[in-house]
Amino acid sequence: MVLDVVWAVKWLTLCAQAMAEHRVELIELDRAIGDSDHGENMDRGFQAVLDKLAEAAPETPGAALKLTAMTLMSKVGGAAGPLYGTAFLRAAAALGDSAEIEPAAWAGALAAARDGIVARGKAEPGDKTMVDAWTPAAEAARAAAENGGPDVLTVLVAAAEAAEAGAVATDPLMARKGRASYLGERSIGHRDPGAASTALILRAAVGAAA
Ligand code: ADP
Ligand code: MG
Repeated sequence: MVLDVVWAVKWLTLCAQAMAEHRVELIELDRAIGDSDHGENMDRGFQAVLDKLAEAAPETPGAALKLTAMTLMSKVGGAAGPLYGTAFLRAAAALGDSAEIEPAAWAGALAAARDGIVARGKAEPGDKTMVDAWTPAAEAARAAAENGGPDVLTVLVAAAEAAEAGAVATDPLMARKGRASYLGERSIGHRDPGAASTALILRAAVGAAA
């Protein structure tokens, strides 16, 4: 398995599928601690990504991710649009013009995405945001790339599993950034919607390689 542009386009296609399938679930999560728009935002954004990918036919994974970044920034409103836009843009920059993504490069792209989100949103781990999914995902990918040798699927799985665990681990946290922070202690006991959508995105990356 190599992570080339065919994989990247399949990944983004599976992201769009996941956002459509989990639209209502993400809306419900955001209804509990936000304004109910996260599922709608992500579904609309990734459907627009599919349209752009079909038009532009990018030639490298980096180009596909850059197109995704631009589209998410313009089509996804709220906090998540600029944050995911920055994440995909930083990941694209980390990958550059490479035709194929090696395990260490995927780990590097996830770290760049995570750092971009932190630079933009100023949230730290534990603030109950998407950073709580991206941070363990980037760390798990780095560890797997170091230990797992050249098997890129292992690295994708490690990141997805860590993001899923990170999303679940937001349940008991009190939100300290974003709209959910207005609820203070009432945000405790609910999963962060952005952490949940991050887990879907990184699980789709596995599906595209399987
Ligand atoms: P909005 O909050 O504007 O309605 P969305 O509902 O689309 O936007 O996205 C909400 C998600 O954005 C949250 O669940 C959280 O994961 C993420 N988020 C909000 N603010 C920040 C921030 N400062 N840093 C990182 N992530 C954030
Ligand atoms: Mg919202």
